[in-house]
Amino acid sequence: MKQNLLDFDPAALTAWFAEQGEKPFRARQVMRWIYKSGESDFDAMSDLAKSLREKLRQLACVQIPSVVREELAGDGTRKWLLDVGTGNAVETVFIPEEGRGTLCVSTQAGCALDCAFCSTGKQGFNRNLSTAEIIGQVWWANHELGKDADGHWPVTNVVLMGMGEPLLNFENTVSALRLMLDDHCYGLSRRRVTVSTSGVVPAMDRLREECPVALAVSLHAPNDKLRNVLVPINQKYPLSELMAACQRYLEKAPRDFVTFEYVMLAGVNDSEQDARELLRLVRDVPCKFNLIPFNPFPQAPYRRSAMPVVMRFRDVLAQAGIVTTIRKVRGDDIAAACGQLAGQVQDRTKRTGQRVIEVIA
Ligand code: SAH
Ligand code: SF4
Repeated sequence: MKQNLLDFDPAALTAWFAEQGEKPFRARQVMRWIYKSGESDFDAMSDLAKSLREKLRQLACVQIPSVVREELAGDGTRKWLLDVGTGNAVETVFIPEEGRGTLCVSTQAGCALDCAFCSTGKQGFNRNLSTAEIIGQVWWANHELGKDADGHWPVTNVVLMGMGEPLLNFENTVSALRLMLDDHCYGLSRRRVTVSTSGVVPAMDRLREECPVALAVSLHAPNDKLRNVLVPINQKYPLSELMAACQRYLEKAPRDFVTFEYVMLAGVNDSEQDARELLRLVRDVPCKFNLIPFNPFPQAPYRRSAMPVVMRFRDVLAQAGIVTTIRKVRGDDIAAACGQLAGQVQDRTKRTGQRVIEVIA
């Protein structure tokens, strides 16, 4: 079988070239063709010797996951459904904003962590995405949207907030991050690449050592009792450990704060008292908050908090000096908003929200 070059991070690609008797600068040239020029055809890589092009054609390929559907929302948000084989699909969402373009990338087909309010979790876990499937989402979005008049790719920021828990697919996620950051590839700054995690504490420490980028942590509850229900991995890594891990992360992070994501669920975690309890929880962690109005999906056991409730919650945090934003709902007319992403090639819904409702009541 041919080697898909998208599966290599920069060091591994250089090593593979060495195995083929090729110098490191040849690997860099090929990287620049693939990522900077968006080229997938070796024959078009005009500054490579003919013999090298022939060798690459025989041994290697540049294979992007196949896109089975594209949808465009009224607000310009674009969603692609990528077929990742055996009936699985993952989604990639491009969100255009003034002066930047953010791509929301998936790292797993499904997710094992089963957060109570998340449609990806309700699908169960299918499999980890390969490095090629993760970086291929960036390649595809850039390819589809094309460079602007100044020759810049449209994807300027990447958030690993699509389907799956990136830190439970650690190796492939980090390889893809390295490609996003490398100057011969996309050359994005570490501050413009964000990993979002539900709080896999040991992997947060590893990420800090191996490839620190901006960090978002899905908090969603001010105490262990509620978070154990909403984000079940909390039973393994409770809030005290999570807060300590955030502090450790910040020692090496490219930004000097953690972004806490907090989904607003009516009557569940959205009271002023919850906000005040949160303030005590995060007292020692430099942070910003991003409040996410809950995005419903079929059979979801929750409702979105009313806007005045969300604003009151924001005010409590803001008055204590914490920068707090309310996430604009983007792309919800094409089910591309946070937590609505679900592979639809095959219905894998095996779980219902029922159990969770019972625990809360
Ligand atoms: N697994 C990672 C990243 C993917 S989820 C994580 O949990 O952080 C990306 C974000 O969307 C998380 O903050 C998640 O809690 C949030 N989310 C999940 N379901 C949602 C829903 N139905 N409405 C709003 N946000 C949701
Ligand atoms: Fe997985 Fe994140 Fe969804 Fe939780 S919120 S089930 S960790 S994708």
